[in-house]
Formats: sequence, structure tokens, C-alpha cells
Amino acid sequence: MCIQTFRQYTCGCKKNEEYKQCAERLGTNVICTPVERVALDPSAHMCRNHMVKQGKDEMRRIVPRR
Ligand SMILES: [Zn+2]
Ligand SMILES: [Zn+2]
Repeated sequence: MCIQTFRQYTCGCKKNEEYKQCAERLGTNVICTPVERVALDPSAHMCRNHMVKQGKDEMRRIVPRR
């Protein structure tokens, strides 16, 4: 069965990653249904959609100025 890998982010989102065709489908445009879904190592970060934009809601760090 073909494999769709996905990664789980700390915000709870799952994002599809690499898609691997199985040997029988290799070189064709056919995919198995259903595909096997395999979780990769969960990310330690949030996904892009949940990253805050710089200068807006970013967490303030106190950086000593020289
Ligand atoms: Zn397959
Ligand atoms: Zn997210």
C-alpha cells in the first residue's frame, strides 16, 4: 500500500509530508485507496500558520543593549 507520511505540530495541525508509492504502483500515476498514513516524528514547533508574525505578537525577550 502507498504511504502518505505526515507530521504533527505542537499547535495540533497535521501536515502531509513525503508521499511514497508502493512497488506495484511505482512509475504509474495510480495510488492506492486508502493510502497508509504514517506519522513522522512530531515537530517541536508550531506549523507556519500558527507562527506569530515578527513584531506583532511575538514574545518579548529582554536583550541587553550595548
Ligand atoms: Zn500502493
Ligand atoms: Zn498549526
